[in-house]
Amino acid sequence: MTKPVVAIVGRPNVGKSTIFNRIVGERVAIVEDMPGVTRDRIYSKGEWLNREFNLIDTGGIELGDEPLLVQMRAQAELAIKEADVIIFIVNGREGITGADQEVAKLLFRSDKPVVLGVNKIDNPDMQEELYEFYSLGMDTPYPISGSHGLGLGDLLDDVIKHFPDEEEDPYDEDTIRISLIGRPNVGKSSIVNAMLGEERVIVSNIPGTTRDAIDTPFTQDDQDYVLIDTAGMRKRGKVYEATEKYSVLRSLKAIERSNVVLVVINAEEGLIEQDKKIAGYAHEAGRAVVIVVNKWDAVAKDDKTMKNFETKLREELLFLTYAPILFVSAKTKQRLHTVLPMVKKVSENHHLRVPTNVLNDMIMDAVAMNPTPTDKGKRLKINYVTQVAVEPPTFVFFVNEPELMHFSYERFLENRLRATFDFEGTPIKIFARKKN
Ligand code: GDP
Repeated sequence: MTKPVVAIVGRPNVGKSTIFNRIVGERVAIVEDMPGVTRDRIYSKGEWLNREFNLIDTGGIELGDEPLLVQMRAQAELAIKEADVIIFIVNGREGITGADQEVAKLLFRSDKPVVLGVNKIDNPDMQEELYEFYSLGMDTPYPISGSHGLGLGDLLDDVIKHFPDEEEDPYDEDTIRISLIGRPNVGKSSIVNAMLGEERVIVSNIPGTTRDAIDTPFTQDDQDYVLIDTAGMRKRGKVYEATEKYSVLRSLKAIERSNVVLVVINAEEGLIEQDKKIAGYAHEAGRAVVIVVNKWDAVAKDDKTMKNFETKLREELLFLTYAPILFVSAKTKQRLHTVLPMVKKVSENHHLRVPTNVLNDMIMDAVAMNPTPTDKGKRLKINYVTQVAVEPPTFVFFVNEPELMHFSYERFLENRLRATFDFEGTPIKIFARKKN
């Protein structure tokens, strides 16, 4: 269930992003092209020999204007803390630098497996550049070329050898897994505590544990829930805190493990860029999302405040139009009792399966209302629609020419689906496939 995490560490310009993109491969291209969705990715899925993993480019986590060494240390610390296997990249053309040695020392002291990639070895006669890197004290240095895509297979073979055994899913299928994400101090822990103190909430005595997280299972009205990584939510990582960045990676892991993501925003501060990024990950991961605006008690209000806040939030989170917004206060408990019912509802919507005949009737009506687009005299023809998956609901449209399915028409179809069925809180995926 939790995929192994691989982190790429190395000085700036050694080629980390190129290697990241190579490993992630065409998967990046699948990601929807939507306004507001993160483009600069530091975290993505990778796969090698049928083993899936999550890949982090620690270089993508900027730490402001800190000096190189501080940045490198922070990256290494992050990788050591969060990854199962670390890929350490050095530049084969420049040789070993002081910063490389510094990082090597840190990695060496940790008990995490490290695979050393010597990058920019673009052709075989450069192999002898490799020997110097043995002195870093790692196992075999792998010659690689990010720009030419060479050598990565051998390196990845080694990486997956170090993966821990697959973890069994500790919860049964009907358990709703909830994660709360948001910057430090938005009130995540306060919300959790308030939620767990609610009426009819029965917290399990035995915390759920996985390799690196402590979860809190509980039930309310016969529904099982689990709060994912409640410990991580409270524990403040030095690295992130010291640099005013919150624990992106922990959040991403938590998102990955959950069905429903509560994006917590501090009403006093409003939405900031970082919130947007993390919310973007929840969307891309296809999770159900509820936006929770906390500290609503601390805001001076009149009858328009809530509406205005919502309008502004919606403008900034265009890709999350489907997510309900709750205005709560962990302090006064205002509307906190609405959180769990909403979680349950969006989780149901996330699982919603529309019968094929109902779906096709509805789409035919939609097409009658707004005819399919044409291009160069050719008209898109939708032959048949089927829902191929839930969590999130995923629809495949069998059409004459998939290229004729323009973004705007796809949007229209999504809107019709949403107008007909209750998909509040869940993303929807639409694919067009060729079939005459
Ligand atoms: P976390 O870092 O997101 O887990 O945030 P905490 O739950 O630790 O809360 C950070 C601070 O905000 C604490 O001082 C809380 O007492 C305060 N706080 C949390 N929720 C509320 C709220 O609804 N209203 C007000 N006024 N303060 C809150």
